[in-house]
Amino acid sequence: MKILFCSSEVVPFAKTGGLADVAGALPISLEEQGQEIRVIMPLYRMVKNLGAKLEKLNQDVYSAKIGKDVTVYFLENKKFFDRDNLYVTKEGDYPDNLERFSFFCEKSLEFIKKIKFKPDVIHCNDWQTSLIPVFLKTKYKDDPFYSKIKTILTVHNLGYQGLFPKEKFSVLGLGDELFSINGLEFYGKVNVLKGGLLFSDYITAVSPTYAKEIQTKEFGAGLEGLLEKRKDMIFGIINGIDYSIWDPKKDELIFKKYDSESIASKYVNKTKFQQECGLKEDDKSMLLGMVSRLAEQKGVDILAQALPDILKLDMQVVILGTGDVKYHQILEAIARKFPKKFSLHLKFDETLAHKIYAASDFFLMPSRYEPCGLGQLISFKYGTLPVVSKTGGLVDTVKNFDIKTKKGDGFVLSDFTKKGFIDSMNKARAVFADKALLADLIKAVMLKDFSWNESAKKYIQLYKKVLSN
Ligand code: ADP
Repeated sequence: MKILFCSSEVVPFAKTGGLADVAGALPISLEEQGQEIRVIMPLYRMVKNLGAKLEKLNQDVYSAKIGKDVTVYFLENKKFFDRDNLYVTKEGDYPDNLERFSFFCEKSLEFIKKIKFKPDVIHCNDWQTSLIPVFLKTKYKDDPFYSKIKTILTVHNLGYQGLFPKEKFSVLGLGDELFSINGLEFYGKVNVLKGGLLFSDYITAVSPTYAKEIQTKEFGAGLEGLLEKRKDMIFGIINGIDYSIWDPKKDELIFKKYDSESIASKYVNKTKFQQECGLKEDDKSMLLGMVSRLAEQKGVDILAQALPDILKLDMQVVILGTGDVKYHQILEAIARKFPKKFSLHLKFDETLAHKIYAASDFFLMPSRYEPCGLGQLISFKYGTLPVVSKTGGLVDTVKNFDIKTKKGDGFVLSDFTKKGFIDSMNKARAVFADKALLADLIKAVMLKDFSWNESAKKYIQLYKKVLSN
């Protein structure tokens, strides 16, 4: 099959979160399984600054390769994409995000026609590429080039819908009838993701549990009614991770490489990390790591409430993240009080992320909701036990450890409160104190397999299914 994979971010070129990890890895796995797949993304300034070898295809399209032979196209528009960031600045979202990603969707469609690459399926991701199914079924519906193309929209996070003032609707060049309850209108605003959810042939969510959750009022972010109506078209496929990037045995970014047979070397990472970050060098203290966007979704508020109590115990904490200024300030205030126990890094830093996964004993993901979550999968591979809330993809991937049966592979919050979090940390503490048990658990989680193979197979089945309908 021929697939076009459209994403607003792709590892290793541009990343703000898990979408980029998926877009950089799933196509490679699909290629390995015999599919002809090409990827398309905007040419951001950061891509040019990377120094990656880009080939100029025509006036405003460049290309590069990932995997064995997957072509990634970069669409250039200096006005829209030659900027410091992908979507936001400290002042908030770029005000012309609708123009930017509407342009990207339309240009992607025109480009494949120009080069005569007619995909069987266009695989779209999140709101930024949600206009592709909308345009195909409206503006482009009478063009025979596009008539047989099917679309799949993967929801990586329903919390980001691409909402814009109604005055902007005209930017899309769609008929006025589409600014209605049966179209892109959403409480008086333009909702781009809603358009994608209505017009794509199939919808996927990045875990089976999240696929169900988004059809409920609690997690549906106002779109649960629409999703309930389309429930037969919704499928949940769990994300994998790319072990060519995330594997402590081969990881050039960590202090000392290790695998499940050389766990002692994991502790070299811990000690060196403590030294580098000004934490007290102490192997008896539990080191709790977190690498995350600092958003309400990630449960930063619960964590911040619990931190002062936790930091009074024999625990150290390292947090790497950027996001809401409010959380930056709250965490900075705590860091000032516990300089030797709390190491705070308010930035995006790939190298530091690898070091944290390797050095930490436990990895914190107290998310309010979590479509899939990659941190827990990465931390498994690094022998770092996840402490997670009971939601979305975390339910599908982490089983609570039971000290009596010795079954389970992480710590699941009994409830989403400060107390629930501290209770889980105390359970983790009991395991940390039992070195033989801890070593067994670390070894077991390191051997888990969350590679893309199985999930890519499921996507292929879905592409076949959508084509046969
Ligand atoms: P989300 O996509 O909601 O942000 P995921 O858990 O799916 O969350 O994926 C997050 C990805 O982004 C992981 O690969 C994580 O390591 C990475 N990441 C998040 N914040 C940072 C940061 N500040 N620096 C480096 N990597 C980060």
